[in-house]
Amino acid sequence: MILSLSNGIFSKLRLDGNFAAVKQLGFHDIEFNMKSIKKEHDTDVYREQKALVAAGLNCLSLHSAVLHVKDPIEVHQAVYYGKISLECARALHTSLVTVHSNVSKKLPREIREQCLQEVFGEIKPFAKQLGIKLSLENLSFTSTGFGKNVEQLEEVLAVIDTKSEMGITFDLCHALETKEVYNLLDAYGKRICNVHMANKAHQPFTRETPELTAFLTKLHDCCYDGPITLELEHRTTMEEIAKSKQLFEKILKNY
Ligand SMILES: [Zn+2]
Repeated sequence: MILSLSNGIFSKLRLDGNFAAVKQLGFHDIEFNMKSIKKEHDTDVYREQKALVAAGLNCLSLHSAVLHVKDPIEVHQAVYYGKISLECARALHTSLVTVHSNVSKKLPREIREQCLQEVFGEIKPFAKQLGIKLSLENLSFTSTGFGKNVEQLEEVLAVIDTKSEMGITFDLCHALETKEVYNLLDAYGKRICNVHMANKAHQPFTRETPELTAFLTKLHDCCYDGPITLELEHRTTMEEIAKSKQLFEKILKNY
């Protein structure tokens, strides 16, 4: 398993400051979160590429910009967000992109299915063309999006992933909040290709808890060897991030 940091935590900083903070903490691998990019610059992927190279960081994965569509009129915007995220992933040389279902949990089922088909009907072939694997994230009950438990994720995958090609991004914070850790692990253990690591409310783990140990043991049993991406609340201090990093450097040696 590889320790990584989501740079979304520094999204309030300019990109050079963002990467500098990541480096200051001593991380080498990152998940690039699209919220680090200002909207007016979101087609300027070469700027991100240059900054990443200059910082000497490695982009293990990218978190797509997402829009939880609550009306079919928004489908085009969700497709645009998805495609520009994929362009950015290509520029940053990563082939793993975390996505949400991109549909609101408030949509009626038939409209939800129609929107899922339209959004992923465009995003999936584009990802394939770029050689990028899409990885669907489990959401929390606080999210406006659809896809918080196995039942909901199965409904989504039945529409957008009939060939079982997509991976799963396991967000431990969301799974703890929804009490779905074991249901999700049982259903998707072998399909996990990214882990978002945080305690409830995206607080950092600064010591090993029984829940954390049980989760990592089960993950290890599934032969998981991908990223452990610290995805933390943006008010987390540098000291707390450093402490969490230290903890995982120590723990991950056992897996
Ligand atoms: Zn997440």
